[in-house]
Formats: sequence, structure tokens, C-alpha cells
Amino acid sequence: MAELLKGAPVASAIAEDLTARIARLNEKGVQPKLTVIRLGERGGDLFYERSIQRFCGKVGALCESIVLPEESTQEELLDVIARVNEAPEIHGCLLLRPVPKHMDAAAVCEALRPEKDLDGMGTRALGALFAGQKGGFAPCTASACLELLEHYKVPLEGARVTVLGRSLVIGRPVSQLLLQKNATVTVCHSRSRDLPALCREADVLIAAIGKPGFVKAEWLHEGQTVLDVGASMVDGVMCGDVESAAQERVAAVTPVPGGVGAVTTATLIKHLVEAAERA
Ligand code: NAP
Repeated sequence: MAELLKGAPVASAIAEDLTARIARLNEKGVQPKLTVIRLGERGGDLFYERSIQRFCGKVGALCESIVLPEESTQEELLDVIARVNEAPEIHGCLLLRPVPKHMDAAAVCEALRPEKDLDGMGTRALGALFAGQKGGFAPCTASACLELLEHYKVPLEGARVTVLGRSLVIGRPVSQLLLQKNATVTVCHSRSRDLPALCREADVLIAAIGKPGFVKAEWLHEGQTVLDVGASMVDGVMCGDVESAAQERVAAVTPVPGGVGAVTTATLIKHLVEAAERA
């Protein structure tokens, strides 16, 4: 049976560290403040927002939500982002995505200043990540994968890591963070040939494609660590990208739910505290 790499202990360790860092910022008169911008009332957004508020309360960060109707115009959203950019007391911002289809998502993502872009949605943050420069923030789920691997002391130096998925939210940024740790990274996508072989050759597999149970247990072996980023709802149940039989086969695997997702919120607030420290 695989070791379950649960997210909760990782989030607790991050919370403990952040509580101390926020106390030090408070002594200097700084109170880290996050602004969450939400359009509409999607269930997933509300769930994430509540978990962010709880985590902020636990570590002593401020959190405000700005809620706009889903039918708001792009100009109205850009106005809100401009106000966040100019507010010195706001250290960072999370825009819950995807934005409504009538908006130009790329233009909206570019509007937030990179030093407040805690979820690495703009190309300036992503460019800094890809160039290996400090200053921006990687997308939180990608950072959460690294937090998990680090917490459970999974060796990455020289390790072969296969990443399934190449989105700008997870697949590509996590591959860059892994390269920074000197892993040998293979990034796969819907046109990749022979995924079973590419999965089998990995020491660490990161599955982030959004297809429940897509990765089969027989593609895996007993020496591997598997991070299952997938979070698809099937008949009201959250399912990962890796079939559950993999738990009988590999060395270690993240549960879904309770794995990577449980660390993503903690990573967002870690980015907030870093932004406040830099400011
Ligand atoms: P996305 O933008 O839809 O990207 C999916 C990626 O998977 C694409 O690169 C796509 O390849 C690839 N893919 C799709 N079908 C494939 C196949 N049959 N074989 C190989 N690759 C395939 O999704 P995302 O935003 O990256 O999210 C991925 C999953 O992570 C979703 O389940 C999402 O809910 C979950 N997620 C979890 C968290 C968390 O905190 N736990 C946060 C965000 C997202 P192409 O590029 O070729 O199309």
C-alpha cells in the first residue's frame, strides 16, 4: 500500500511558519492583506474563497472579497484591478478564474501588477519564472506541488519527472519549478505518444490533465511518487486523474481530495506574506 502524501500536514507546517512571519511584519506595522476578486457565484469559487478566508484568519492575514456580477463588463473588472494595483495596503490579489467568456482573459490577466499577482496569471510573472528570475510568483497549484514534494522529502536532484498536462496553470509552471530543482522533466500533452511508457520511466509523476482515472495502475510501478492534481467532479464526488488502484502499486501518492488541493490555499497565503515582506 502506498504512503498517502496528505496535504493537511503540509498546510499546517506552512501555517505555523506564516504565523511567525506575520507576527514579525506586525511588529513593523505591516498587516498582510489579500484581495480576492470573484465574478458571480460559482460553487467552486465560493468553496475556494471560504478556505482562503479560514486560512487567513488562522495565520492573522487580512482578506477582503470584491464580488462583481458575472455579467459585468471587462471595463468594470479592469477598474477594480486598477484600484487594487494602486492601493498600498493591499499586498496581493487573487482573481478567481476562468473569467466570463465575454471578456478577453489574457488582457485581464495582464492588468494586475506582477508584484501583486499571487497566482502567476500574467506573462510578467510567468516570464520571470521561465527565466529563473526572482520577483514574480508561480501559479499556486504548481507551487503547492513543490511544497508537497519538499515536505515529504522526495528527492528531485537528477530525478526523472513526468508531467502530464502543459497548461499555464499547472503543467508548464510546475515543469519550470522542477527544472530549478535539477530534475529531468518530460512534459506530456494530448498529442504525446505512448503515455504508459512515459509514465513508467518516471521516478515522480505529476498528473494534471483533468480526466478522472485516466492514469492506469499498470502504467506505474512500486518505486514511484505520484502527485495527482486532477480535481474533476463525477456524480458529486471529486476524482483525481489517477485511478484509485494505483494506491496498491506505487510508493507514495497524494489523495484526492486532501492532497495537492489542500496545499494550494496555504501556498497562496505564503505568496501573500512574501509580497508583504518584499513591499
Ligand atoms: P487544462 O487547462 O484543461 O489542461 C489540461 C492539460 O491536459 C492540457 O495540456 C492537455 O493537453 C492535457 N491533456 C488533456 N487530455 C489529455 C490526454 N488524453 N493525454 C495527455 N494529456 C492530455 O487543465 P488545468 O487547468 O491544467 O487543470 C488540470 C486538472 O487539475 C483539472 O482536473 C483541474 O480541476 C485540476 N486543478 C486542480 C487544482 C488544485 O488545487 N488541486 C488547481 C487547478 C486545477 P493539450 O495541451 O494538448 O490540450
